[in-house]
Amino acid sequence: MSAGLNLVEIFWSVQGEGTEVGRPSVFVRLGECDLRCAWCDSVETWKPAKACRVEQEPGSGRMQSRPNPVSVEDAVLEIVRLQAGRPCLVSITGGEPLLQPDGVLALATRLRESGSRILLETHGLEVEAMARVAPAIDVVSMDWKLASDVRRESDPRKGEVADFHDAHEAFLSRAVESVRADATVYVKVVVTTSTRDDELRTACERIAHIAPDSPLVIQPVTPSGPVRETPTAARVLACLTLCRETLSDVRVVPQTHKMIGVL
Ligand code: SF4
Repeated sequence: MSAGLNLVEIFWSVQGEGTEVGRPSVFVRLGECDLRCAWCDSVETWKPAKACRVEQEPGSGRMQSRPNPVSVEDAVLEIVRLQAGRPCLVSITGGEPLLQPDGVLALATRLRESGSRILLETHGLEVEAMARVAPAIDVVSMDWKLASDVRRESDPRKGEVADFHDAHEAFLSRAVESVRADATVYVKVVVTTSTRDDELRTACERIAHIAPDSPLVIQPVTPSGPVRETPTAARVLACLTLCRETLSDVRVVPQTHKMIGVL
């Protein structure tokens, strides 16, 4: 029996973000996160969950509750059932999946053996955990958090905080050196009305130093909850121009799943 997972939900939908946008995907959302992003749309994942929701029919939104932890074997059975005979992308997300590296490694390994591609969505700070799970990951979607909008759980909500550039640089270095040769690593940065040019420029310079050909996805924040507005079109294009000064593959991809109203 493998390590158990603290899960929030398992469901089938469409990957709405990043370089794999539009692909059918089973989402495996893990519980617990040690960051507090101002735009977070998954606040229910911040603490480990007592129970998780498992979709009954792919795309139906009808969920059944089951207690945590869920064994890797049971999670694999549910994911394969939702794939309905057609293995597809499995997006392991959270919360922060790399706070449970043993479970993620076991899950991703089993799913790859049955034909799935594995996308890992991570806040990009758990360096050793990344190296541990890397052999079983096909796509690493790493966030580059900007201190204008993100705090650690342990930080006060207001006031200056240390930036995340050094920690992200260490993570990206380890990710690109530890993934398989056929895997891809890309960086995603959420841009809000608070985003400053200097922090965006520093992020791009750090990325260019380590992985100049890796895609950078600019994701304009989606208004929801406490977030009332998104950057103007002119501001998004200005960010695109700024990032292209140092990086060759920069894309703007909003959260498309929210446009079409799916999970
Ligand atoms: S890292 Fe992800 S789950 Fe954690 S607070 Fe930020 S957006 Fe939410």
